[in-house]
Amino acid sequence: MEPNNESNEPARQAQGEQKANNNEQTSSAPVQNDRPNGGRGRGGAPRGGQRGGSQRGGSSRGGQGRQSGERKTENGERSGVSRGQAIRAQKRSQMDAQRIANQFMPASTDEKRRPNFIDDSPRLKIIGLGGMDGGGSKNMMLVEYMNDAVIIDCGNDLSVDLPGINYGIADTAYLDQIKNKLRAYIITHGHLDHIGGLPHIVPKYPAPIYGSKFTIGRVEEIFENFGLPMPDGFELRTVTMNEDTHERLKVGEFFVELVRITHSIPGSTCVVLDTPVGRIINTGDFRFDPNPLDHERSDIERLKELGNEGVLALLSESTTVERMGRTPSESTIEQSFIDIMQQAPGRIFVGLFSTNMNRVQMIINAAIHHNRKIAMDGRSMVSTLEMAVRHGFMKVPKGTFVPIASAATMPDDQLVVVCTGSQGEPSSALQRMANGEHRHVKMKEQDTVILSSTPIPESGNDALVGVMVDGLVKKGVHVFEARNHDLDGVGPLHVSGHASRDEYAEMIEYTKPKFFIPIYGAYRVKQRHIDLAVETGIPRANTVNALNGEVIALTPDKMEVIGEVPSGTILVDQTGAIVSNVVVKDRVLLAEEGLVAVILTIDKKSGNLMTSPDIVSRGFIYMRDNEEIMNGLRNELRRAVQQRFKRVDLDRFKTELKDHMNHFLFEHTQRSPIIIPVVNVIGGGGPKGEPKTATVAAGGRTKTAEEVAAEQQKRFQQMRARLLTQDSRID
Ligand SMILES: [Zn+2]
Repeated sequence: MEPNNESNEPARQAQGEQKANNNEQTSSAPVQNDRPNGGRGRGGAPRGGQRGGSQRGGSSRGGQGRQSGERKTENGERSGVSRGQAIRAQKRSQMDAQRIANQFMPASTDEKRRPNFIDDSPRLKIIGLGGMDGGGSKNMMLVEYMNDAVIIDCGNDLSVDLPGINYGIADTAYLDQIKNKLRAYIITHGHLDHIGGLPHIVPKYPAPIYGSKFTIGRVEEIFENFGLPMPDGFELRTVTMNEDTHERLKVGEFFVELVRITHSIPGSTCVVLDTPVGRIINTGDFRFDPNPLDHERSDIERLKELGNEGVLALLSESTTVERMGRTPSESTIEQSFIDIMQQAPGRIFVGLFSTNMNRVQMIINAAIHHNRKIAMDGRSMVSTLEMAVRHGFMKVPKGTFVPIASAATMPDDQLVVVCTGSQGEPSSALQRMANGEHRHVKMKEQDTVILSSTPIPESGNDALVGVMVDGLVKKGVHVFEARNHDLDGVGPLHVSGHASRDEYAEMIEYTKPKFFIPIYGAYRVKQRHIDLAVETGIPRANTVNALNGEVIALTPDKMEVIGEVPSGTILVDQTGAIVSNVVVKDRVLLAEEGLVAVILTIDKKSGNLMTSPDIVSRGFIYMRDNEEIMNGLRNELRRAVQQRFKRVDLDRFKTELKDHMNHFLFEHTQRSPIIIPVVNVIGGGGPKGEPKTATVAAGGRTKTAEEVAAEQQKRFQQMRARLLTQDSRID
């Protein structure tokens, strides 16, 4: 499984951008109707909304006290809400935010920093540092024996749905302890959930990266496109292996071999590792396609041979074990493309996953068949195509491709546009063409769009695709969705890159392992995989459904879990930088509750306010519609300054101010926004205004808040541009 980056990230970004464009003092909506039912899901984005429902539905706060702002006693004293209630509500909000942020925790608690086992015995240890908790989830297996260790796969997790977070990578704290043993990274195939962690992890724990030619091409591609500079002295070392000749390379005490397997990206392989304890096989992602378009069939003969020689343990991916039967061959969809192109009156647009080069080849073939030229758009796809052509993986006759810039001048019936965006990603090439926002191509009546993928399950992308297709149909565009091919009277438009149940069983039957370890899948799906293995004759005692971090020890006749090493998720933002869990918690709080800043300018000598308190609200309430509350808050602030400023020190004063504001705002709105008091003390040569948030501009002049914001906005846009070069994830 490979998660789709382009599908979810830009959706969140678009939201963020919108917020950033809001002008002063605007916020989501007026108090009374902002959050009906007290629900805490993020409105707007279908994705956030969907997941938010389950994650954030647990808040015990309802909207029942919403009108409490009106409840005052005769002399104007507040009555409804005690200070304790306000504080408890604030704590609850913080705990909610913490819980959401903690779904993706680094292994940072001190006790867990060190593994709870010491083991130098001649046992083989297999540890899932990632990927044991769901498909598409930073797949990463560590194999360790005495003084040698290798890592198989090193992916990232693009399904992390937290504000400003692009993806997660595995917490590799354990590698600190065995750094000197690490001999190699061995990669099964070039999807991001198998290679996306490499640019973060390899520079920290250097070792050469082994893989097939296409996989190594992809590895080089992601290192080239990585946003951050590599540390000084770091050198990317790769070893390209031939997956057809059964060559075996010695890596420490191990021998490694790659075996060709079919999946949805070229160069996919099983990794065979011969160790002093016995042979293990990691299948990588696979299906057994009997008739792949590139004629590169799975090397079933070799798998059988290996099985006959003896396999100690099979580590088999588990993505779609719950799917019955067999996955249809990729070749079943080629005719569908030819048929649709036959009847399409005008231009044809095909949206698909960016690394699915076999599919691209299929479209090239169909286009040539119909004398159409191809234009391609979507940076990640173009990048992978270039790499694939350079390495000779594609058969592209000269003159087949035309630049996207000249697409508009081509006769309609001679053009096919291949692009990213089949998941409805808001910033994708397809979406921009559909919206008329694309520089060169705008969709019109009589165009045909083929969506050659299905929305990634549980991603929320089906809603995005729905919105996009609605827009297209309104324009009079013919849309072929993979799921509706029967309705449309055409053949299949997409098949999965993963096996179905019968094929998973065959993998076990071919390799005849003594022990069976399901990997790369959700716990429940791995359990199904174990049941399947038992059906094929593996004793249940010879299977284990391990969690991330659990240490599976193997001897020639025993498999057991002997302990645990630190495991967890490190969060990465759009620039490639690591983001602390604490920061994420604040972002969630901001997203849920908003922010209120008050700026007080106080004369040091007199202790009087020099101007009316400035109140800035973001994502909290719309101030213009709530003047009464804001005026009330200003009065509270004036009173607080009068009564307390001269009596306590500045830090204490600010703490009190925060508490007081929290109480006041909670009472009137039933919410606990993040509160930032800024107190400028002027005059008397005493403590200068603080805090020092302003930075210095080029001329020595202090930058204004607007300038700082403009710069941040610019950086954000650069990040976003860079993000679009990243790859998508594939079923
Ligand atoms: Zn894959």
